[in-house]
Amino acid sequence: MNANAVYLDHNASAPLLPEARAALLAALDSGGNPSSIHRFGRSARAHVEAAREAVAATAGAEAGQVVFTSGATEAIAQGMIGGARAFGVTRILIGATEHAAVQAAAAATGLPVDTLPVDGEGVIDLAALDAALAAASEAGALLLVAIQAVNNETGVLQPLAAIESRLGATPHLLLIDAVQLYGRRPLDFAARAADMMALSGHKIGAPSGIGALLLKGHADEVRLIAGGGQERGRRGGTEAVALIAGFGAAATAFPHHYDAARVMALRDRLEDTIRAYAADAVIFGAGAHRLETTVAFALPGVANTTALMALDLAGVALSSGSACASGKVARSHVLDAMGVAPALADGALRASLGWSSTEQDIAAFAAALEKLPARRTGGAGKAA
Ligand code: PLP
Repeated sequence: MNANAVYLDHNASAPLLPEARAALLAALDSGGNPSSIHRFGRSARAHVEAAREAVAATAGAEAGQVVFTSGATEAIAQGMIGGARAFGVTRILIGATEHAAVQAAAAATGLPVDTLPVDGEGVIDLAALDAALAAASEAGALLLVAIQAVNNETGVLQPLAAIESRLGATPHLLLIDAVQLYGRRPLDFAARAADMMALSGHKIGAPSGIGALLLKGHADEVRLIAGGGQERGRRGGTEAVALIAGFGAAATAFPHHYDAARVMALRDRLEDTIRAYAADAVIFGAGAHRLETTVAFALPGVANTTALMALDLAGVALSSGSACASGKVARSHVLDAMGVAPALADGALRASLGWSSTEQDIAAFAAALEKLPARRTGGAGKAA
């Protein structure tokens, strides 16, 4: 990544960590197929198993619980589609602000899907959860519940412990989409009630295209891709050895690069900057528990497409919310679910911070804001 660029889009993809790059290149150079028994195969196998240990250790899991996948989207699909199949699930329950990977996997199961509403701050409505669980028990349903730990657009944390304890009495499987929490806080997979967890490498400075599904022992039969017995039969296909090695190295190195208190101070300064620019700026989810990585905001009267282009010209990379594969800016289903007025949601921007963020980034962001071409009428701040 260009050293002069200001990168405030960690939630989309964090910059590659130097340790991950080195491990990736070393594994690429050493070659071999982990299933071969000769020395090259054994060397490739060693890269994969070292990475498995590293990912397990940093997720509070055992190495045998880690299944490498092509990313969290595949991990979620395996957990939900494969989980529904393996256990004879009859109903799916997801939050209204889940990532598209969860929404699409829920639909792909072909089962009835119930969506839990969130409040105005983006937090799951626990009374609605209680009602859904009572209805499921009444109907004798077996539920598959998929909930995100942290929302990728707003940074809002879901009350996982409260959700897990409520689920207790109802027959269910629980998958936690831990993508945006991994590395920033302990995941404690072993200690949690969750049966499955999805992780993604590129959110912690690994290359993209690699992730993991964590499976508790009783969920070991949850499969999606049949093949040559790789990953102990849990995911067919020759392992992406170099990407896996990069993931393992990033897992180990990330805590040395990411300091939550430092990122929180930067986040606070970034929010002060936004409010100083426009007193009527709205920060979404500000009243909820949020991870320090993310500021989702709107400057009323400023279109996000205009703002993104102007900021990009000034060398500052932000996002409009979730990174959309088409490159288009679509209205956020997350903000819709939070009841944000469409006119405001259409202006949504997301700054996301991480291991490489610095005070200079925030200063450059502040300077770039001043150059926004869309000058508003009314309100405080510099807009005219
Ligand atoms: N879940 C969340 C919360 C995410 O932020 C993302 C990535 O944007 C995913 C799932 C999908 O991850 P991947 O890009 O590894 O498929």
